[in-house]
Amino acid sequence: MKTPQDVLAYIKDKDVKMVDVKFIDLPGLWQHFSVPVSEFDENAFAEGFGFDGSSIRGFRAIDQSDMNLIPDPTTAVMDPFSKVPTLSIICDIIDPVTGEKYNRDPRNIAKKAEAYLRASGIADESYWGPEAEFFVFDSIRFDQNQHSGYYFIDSVEGIWNSGREENPNLGYKPRYKEGYFPVPPTDSQQDMRNDMVMTMLEAGLNIECQHHEVATAGQAEIDIKYNKLVKMADDLMMFKYIVKNVARKHGKTATFMPKPLFQDNGTGMHVHMSLWKDGIPLFFDEKGYAKLSQTALYFIGGLLKHAHALTGITNPTTNSYKRLVPGYEAPVNLVYSMRNRSAAVRIPMYSNNPKTKRVEFRPPDPSCNPYLAFAALLMAGLDGIKNKIDPGQPMDKDIFELPPEEAKDIRSVPGSLDAALKALQNDHEFLLEGGVFDKDVLDAWIEYKLTREFDAIRLRPHPYEFMLYYDL
Ligand code: GLN
Ligand code: MG
Ligand code: MG
Ligand code: MG
Repeated sequence: MKTPQDVLAYIKDKDVKMVDVKFIDLPGLWQHFSVPVSEFDENAFAEGFGFDGSSIRGFRAIDQSDMNLIPDPTTAVMDPFSKVPTLSIICDIIDPVTGEKYNRDPRNIAKKAEAYLRASGIADESYWGPEAEFFVFDSIRFDQNQHSGYYFIDSVEGIWNSGREENPNLGYKPRYKEGYFPVPPTDSQQDMRNDMVMTMLEAGLNIECQHHEVATAGQAEIDIKYNKLVKMADDLMMFKYIVKNVARKHGKTATFMPKPLFQDNGTGMHVHMSLWKDGIPLFFDEKGYAKLSQTALYFIGGLLKHAHALTGITNPTTNSYKRLVPGYEAPVNLVYSMRNRSAAVRIPMYSNNPKTKRVEFRPPDPSCNPYLAFAALLMAGLDGIKNKIDPGQPMDKDIFELPPEEAKDIRSVPGSLDAALKALQNDHEFLLEGGVFDKDVLDAWIEYKLTREFDAIRLRPHPYEFMLYYDL
């Protein structure tokens, strides 16, 4: 659907009764309210719907809180879960007083990044392929009181982390780190993942593959076919919505938090990227290292140079840094390689087709806001191309076997959220180019993440501290 008229005709055709208007908050979650279809006419696309921005995480102060949502007709789709026939539509946010697009609307920032790419003359399109992983558990119990917090995960799928065994215990369970990928009955979530994929296809997402992931207790991956930047971020929002709601329908619970289980694989969202101009892929060169063009190498140079600042956006939770440690297929080293999966940038070598030549950036995890993450990655890569940033030599050797004098020069990802946010504070000029990000939104982001998340964890006694220190 392209125009308001298309959407209104579709509403008639599908006998829609309610319209669910959605937008994205600063941390990257959908927020919504619903209106009866009688309230949804052409005017809705022109004037939009008012809401109070002061109650939304990371948005406006209370004294200037009136904001408007303008539905984007290209995002209209039937909600897969509503009992009443409901049209779901994503909105852009404007300030009703100035009529301007809201500078902290993540979707606005992503749109500006796409426009900046075109204006640069370097390329006219970018393609994005995120590999979003997640866990599905039987149940989760946590104490949300202000003073502490503990959690308990229940899963019959993994023996290793199981809090409860099924009765009788039928024995077919993935062994530790062997979740990738035995067939059923060991893989007990095949039907549920297929249900997720069917729902995604109905909602218009293009899905390439679904499978169990390496971790023991119900880790999964569903791969969306590459698409344009804003479109892919929109699709990822629907993707998460479907994963969580289908899990719930099956009496389970799904989470995208990066490291729910100590000593097992975490949840990543590797991001595959490529640039195109006039229908020609720009990242391929038959003669280059890993068949990469010079443009692709400079793009990598930009990603690696700004990697610390990028993690402040692509890995934006305290939990993200519990994943970025050696031993669990998550990247640690800020190098590129066509072989090494511990490298932050991997060059997939499955195909010789120039159209599939792409760069895989492995640090991101699905706790990020995809609009901000893709926009920031694009800005870092473009900075690399504009300033001809040399990514150095590829690292195809086993990094753990390197002699100490070589190993000492290898940079690694930040070790904590506050280190990543400090890096973003010190290195963000590349994000401000073309007005894609601005100081206001970056300050709001850093302040939100430091006070509401980093400090919230730092200031609370940790349950494990009792184990370590209670008897001192
Ligand atoms: N789960 C791993 C990560 O955290 C990736 C595993 C894989 O896809 N090979 O990045
Ligand atoms: Mg994968
Ligand atoms: Mg994977
Ligand atoms: Mg991958």
